[in-house]
Amino acid sequence: MVQPGAEGQPKCLPHFAIAPIMGAVMSEPGAGFAETAPMGFWRKACGFAAHHLINTVFPPSCPVCKELTASHGGICAGCWPSLSFIEKPLCARLGTPFAYDPGPGIVSAAALARPPVWESVRGAVGFDDTARTLVHALKYRDQPATAALMARLMARAGAELLREADLLVPVPLYRLRLWQRRFNQSALLAQHLEAASGVVSCPHLLRRTRPTRAQVGLDFAGRRQNVRGAFSVPDELAFETAGKTCVLVDDVMTTGATAEACTKALLRTGAGRVDVIVFALVLNPAGRHI
Ligand SMILES: [Zn+2]
Repeated sequence: MVQPGAEGQPKCLPHFAIAPIMGAVMSEPGAGFAETAPMGFWRKACGFAAHHLINTVFPPSCPVCKELTASHGGICAGCWPSLSFIEKPLCARLGTPFAYDPGPGIVSAAALARPPVWESVRGAVGFDDTARTLVHALKYRDQPATAALMARLMARAGAELLREADLLVPVPLYRLRLWQRRFNQSALLAQHLEAASGVVSCPHLLRRTRPTRAQVGLDFAGRRQNVRGAFSVPDELAFETAGKTCVLVDDVMTTGATAEACTKALLRTGAGRVDVIVFALVLNPAGRHI
């Protein structure tokens, strides 16, 4: 059933609604993460000293406004209201917010017009200037601590999908890009999601088999052409996906062309279902340049 015109703009939650999210995500740096193994006294002491030294030399600051914060990777209270949290009611397939609640399981006109190959996508926030700053801090400004915060928000947004998931599959980088950047931001997000959810991350399951040009500036058709056939699961790992519910993990979804190519590769090797969890969802791909 379609609800014409039901899709709304990304909603910025009011302060009273943001407070519980901040409480869940900010109050405890390790909130929602699995306990680590018990450490000995000296290991704890060395860890504390190293932590203190790092905080003295590199004082933690908000990745958005650069104000000093209590811990690395945190976002200051003043910047929280600038995040556009995506909240229900949502399109069941595309994860885009409805302006009003049309009922459970309803999909948007956009999803009916062009059904995605994945089952469901969930994004923590709408892609805006704040989300862009966080993503760029993670990818280009060598602030991987930001990944923990982003993953906690992703775990909250994708909780329903994670409950049913067997595997987390980060979108891979081509090996040259990985060498240049030194880490894959999607794999880092998946690693934190694994800690938050208990769903195992498989960063080597999906491979990018050829380099692809940056998707910036391309429309959906161009992006789809750019990544067509660029991903595969090696034959020797195909058994890992057979019948499994896979959750693809990425930092941003713009048109969905990359997620589509990855999903097709997973389905080709027998995945039973593929869902997608991203940090930021571009809710108006035609009007955004990232
Ligand atoms: Zn800030």
